[in-house]
Amino acid sequence: MNCSVCPRKCGLPRGSGYCGVPALPVIARAALHGFEEPVISGTRGSGTIFFAGCNMRCVYCQNFAVSRAQTGTEITVKRLTEIMLRLEDEGAHNINLVTPSHYTEAITEALAAARLKIPAVYNTSGYDDVGALKKISPYISIWLTDFKYVNPDTAARYSGCADYPAVAAEAIRYMLSRGAPVIGADGLMRSGVIIRHLVLPALRKESIAAVEYLHNNFGNAYLLSLMAQYTVVPECACRELRRRLTTYEYNSVADVARRLGTKGFIQDITAAGAEYIPDFGGKTGC
Ligand code: SF4
Repeated sequence: MNCSVCPRKCGLPRGSGYCGVPALPVIARAALHGFEEPVISGTRGSGTIFFAGCNMRCVYCQNFAVSRAQTGTEITVKRLTEIMLRLEDEGAHNINLVTPSHYTEAITEALAAARLKIPAVYNTSGYDDVGALKKISPYISIWLTDFKYVNPDTAARYSGCADYPAVAAEAIRYMLSRGAPVIGADGLMRSGVIIRHLVLPALRKESIAAVEYLHNNFGNAYLLSLMAQYTVVPECACRELRRRLTTYEYNSVADVARRLGTKGFIQDITAAGAEYIPDFGGKTGC
């Protein structure tokens, strides 16, 4: 069957489309993970499932091994359901589906079978098809999405998708329609939307525009997670991105978010570093 599950709308058989992955999910790692926002990781960790492949081509991708090299194991929907239930049994606060956009059909099926007692987190780049989001949304409690760019030229240059700003804004609008953020007395998120924005070197003005865009269009209906953890990876050939983010660059964006009264999380700039990139070396956990 030809695939149109994500905004690329390839219309090609799986495996020969832009993402290059099969219909069944390829899993890079599945384990309890403690490096998400505190409301997601909690004390016991988030039951994180990293899906291989991607429908974007970010030149600075922080997980090349998984997104491009597609390191991982192809599994059945039944196996995916079992992995979700195993993570739940291990005490995960939630099931965290990382980079799910090109596997939404298989994930929806697995979630329907799993009947989880804990929230499922849709952890995405934001380059999502609203039709696919509508199908998976009965099983998703928390939307953890990026909003990377507001400028189509920037999105084309760094991620190979000029339509990203419009597509991601439409996806976010849909996610927000599912409800406001709810955080329990235990400090864990139950439902709602977190919007992540990673500040990149040399793109300070783009980041300020992104933070302002979110505020102007979506008010305080979401929690912002402003991220400073940008790490230069060897695969990145883009000269202006081959350096660390400066404190000035990051703080100038954080100051705008504070001035606007945006709610959420502002990461400390000392968070930049490879320790925030999960180790995928041979640990599929499947
Ligand atoms: S999921 Fe992959 S094959 Fe399907 S439309 Fe998107 S990029 Fe193309």
